Amino acid sequence: MDYKAKVLVTGAGGFIGHHLAKRLKDMGYWVRGVDIKNPEYEPTAADEFELLDLRRWDNCLQATRGVDHVYALAADMGGMGFISANHAQILHNNILINTHTIEAAKVNGVKRYFYTSSACVYPEYKQVDANVTPLREEDAYPAQPQDAYGWEKLVTEHLCTHYREDYGLETRIVRFHNIFGPKGTWDGGREKAPAALSRKIAIAKLTGKHEIEMWGDGEQTRSFCYIDDCLEGIYRLMMSNHVEPLNLGQDRMVTINQLAEIIANIAGFEVAIKHIPGPQGVRGRNSDNTRLKQVLGWEPQISLEDGLAKTYMWIEEQVRRKMGK
Ligand code: NAD
Repeated sequence: MDYKAKVLVTGAGGFIGHHLAKRLKDMGYWVRGVDIKNPEYEPTAADEFELLDLRRWDNCLQATRGVDHVYALAADMGGMGFISANHAQILHNNILINTHTIEAAKVNGVKRYFYTSSACVYPEYKQVDANVTPLREEDAYPAQPQDAYGWEKLVTEHLCTHYREDYGLETRIVRFHNIFGPKGTWDGGREKAPAALSRKIAIAKLTGKHEIEMWGDGEQTRSFCYIDDCLEGIYRLMMSNHVEPLNLGQDRMVTINQLAEIIANIAGFEVAIKHIPGPQGVRGRNSDNTRLKQVLGWEPQISLEDGLAKTYMWIEEQVRRKMGK
């Protein structure tokens, strides 16, 4: 069969990896997906899907056999609640996954390797104010990520750079800023703010209770990028010659209170917010997209409202099903 190239997507049972496998397949690639779990919300579009624990070296060798490109998305991760409470587990598991996956890619002669880093690499001291200055790629240093999750991402960025310099493996490194969309984790403790708030508002709507709980005062700020823009950015970066880490996100900053308000408007249901103690992460974070625009000749297009409308509708449907409504 005719194909553009053979690609491996690790983490293909997860949110972004599942969508990416489908996008690459639609573009004509032969796709192998690998994950420790199956996709939860619809069958994979990948040509081949293998259940493998990528902390193990032998499994990484198996996963990377015979492919031209690797998109390395597998990670032990979740929202703030998960990331702030599981430092040792996250550091241990992600170090194993990433060091073994890239070494196996090298051994198996992979040509191009895409690594998914995070805005969590940026130092805490630059994110203490809700009205934060957007973060440029060079702001990552001097380093002081908030959590073990961010430290591991930063070290793996270096690992990718050194594999390119020392072994000639073409590496590309993206720093995602809060990607959201349908068919991502929406309950169970690993979900992120857009999904968690959508779930809470959907439950409020379906039970008629006009109140939801939110961690902190809700004045912390973030930007949010819809999954379709994320996929476009991933592909453009993979095909580019840009070898340094690159932000990929929206640069419209909102408070978490505003995020909840937008979702409640979409739901057509008014809710009061009860602020309770809980992990909030840094006080403010936004993406500086200057380099993204220069390098990719493009920037994310989908508005927060449009992306949230699609996401909320999907989550309300999941909640309805779970509640038998
Ligand atoms: P996700 O949790 O939905 O997907 C990660 C997948 O990795 C999961 O399906 C999980 O089962 C898999 N995985 C975990 N341990 C594994 C193991 N030992 N072996 C094989 N697979 C394993 O997360 P996502 O939102 O799709 O994120 C994808 C990547 O992007 C991750 O590396 C994440 O750190 C990064 N990232 C995501 C965001 C975001 O906003 N979603 C932001 C910054 C960075």
